[in-house]
Amino acid sequence: MNGPILIADDLVTERITLKARLAGSHHRVSQVNNRAELRAAIARTQPDAIVMDVDFDGRSGVEICRELKSDRSLRNTPVLLYGAGSDRDARIAAFKAGADECLTDLPGERLLLALLRNLMRKRATPDELARRCAVLDTGELAEAQIGFETRMEIAIVAPETTAALCRKRALEAVCPAAIRVFTGAHVLEACADPTYAPDAIMIAEDPAHPDASLRLISELRARHSTRGAVIMLHTAGLLGESADMALDLGTDAVAPAAADAHELALRLGTLVARKRETDRLRAQVEDQLDVALRDPLTGLYNRRYAESYLTRLIRDARDRSMPFSVMILDLDHFKTINDQHGHLTGDDVLRTIASRLTDNIRDIDLAARIGGEEFLVVLQDADRDRAELVAERLRGVIAREPVVVTGTATLVPVTTSIGVATSQAGNDQARDLMEAADQALYASKSAGRNTVSFAQARSAA
Ligand code: GH3
Ligand code: MG
Ligand code: MG
Repeated sequence: MNGPILIADDLVTERITLKARLAGSHHRVSQVNNRAELRAAIARTQPDAIVMDVDFDGRSGVEICRELKSDRSLRNTPVLLYGAGSDRDARIAAFKAGADECLTDLPGERLLLALLRNLMRKRATPDELARRCAVLDTGELAEAQIGFETRMEIAIVAPETTAALCRKRALEAVCPAAIRVFTGAHVLEACADPTYAPDAIMIAEDPAHPDASLRLISELRARHSTRGAVIMLHTAGLLGESADMALDLGTDAVAPAAADAHELALRLGTLVARKRETDRLRAQVEDQLDVALRDPLTGLYNRRYAESYLTRLIRDARDRSMPFSVMILDLDHFKTINDQHGHLTGDDVLRTIASRLTDNIRDIDLAARIGGEEFLVVLQDADRDRAELVAERLRGVIAREPVVVTGTATLVPVTTSIGVATSQAGNDQARDLMEAADQALYASKSAGRNTVSFAQARSAA
């Protein structure tokens, strides 16, 4: 399933060194010698990552990176450049070209593997969201928005205030962001306040206590409010051991002490833009899930959702030996209501009944619209007696007061017939339970409507 990691370097010795360092990645590794070979390898395989020398193919590694990143199908493929040395402009050019990482030297094994793990893990999220949209069959996700709708919020964490303020000033000079500074773990208290949610948290490592940064990163990743924030670790010296540990703890990027404010701002901007794009995709998937699984008229879940919910509930009920009940409700003489008052009034009645149902069951129970004027209610942890209580309550709240048609004084009396089936311990198939409830419903109709009937007692085995 996995694509290869492509090594792009002119020098055979460097390719061999890198290939050896990638042995622990469990990926196939392919090597390419020039731009044409790289293009051919990309066309042949879908690489999971590209590791490329800044000086590849006549000093054009950065330019090739820009080309790759402007291709929509490759945009999410991580590109790691190396060999920029102390050339500040080369590093900035690399990040501007969309490189996911740009290192001064040929990376060591641990750092290289940690960076690739991190980049490939991050790539999985947008890929997975796109797949879910495809499964939902609701078409393509909308194109990414370019730029920022709102100003970026950055939290700078440093070992002491002077250093933090110094970083803030340097970053402010090159980056239009709202920046707050914190010393050490005080950032955790600030982020506990629901009105404060920084897009990015930049942690400057304390050279005397490198473990403190790692602990802070774990804490930030474990907490709900900061789980999704971009975290960047600014290491005290060269990228060392703490960098690969930080990456494995969920840090998005590591930067060496030598990195200047312009470079940091550029990287934070890219990471935050991507995070916002991912958040937007996630919201879009959730909206589409809603469209796929909810009934637009009443807002209740639809039959498709109810069926898969019931299958899962049966499994849980079996594991926990928990009884539960299903009931099918069918409005009485609904056709007559439509005939007498019109279809729009009929729709109004359906909406009102839906809200009476949801108002009269617990949050853990489920109400769904499974047909025109048919509803399903699933009661967790409910034996026959409890189900009878709830069914009678629902029948009562529907029959007791007529529905007032929106914007008029018209009153429409409505009653419902209900069929109930109980599963003692989840030893039933969803279809059998629904059928049993349906037969009980039929009995309620035959008995004159506005009635609750029960399926035959079901065997516990
Ligand atoms: P019974 O007491 O036997 O259930 O009689 P009934 O009239 O309710 O049953 P029947 O199944 O004959 O009629 C159901 C009606 O529900 C027919 C259909 O036009 C109406 N209906 C189905 N979906 C909707 C809807 O979305 N809006 C409205 N207004 N009516 C609907
Ligand atoms: Mg019906
Ligand atoms: Mg009916």
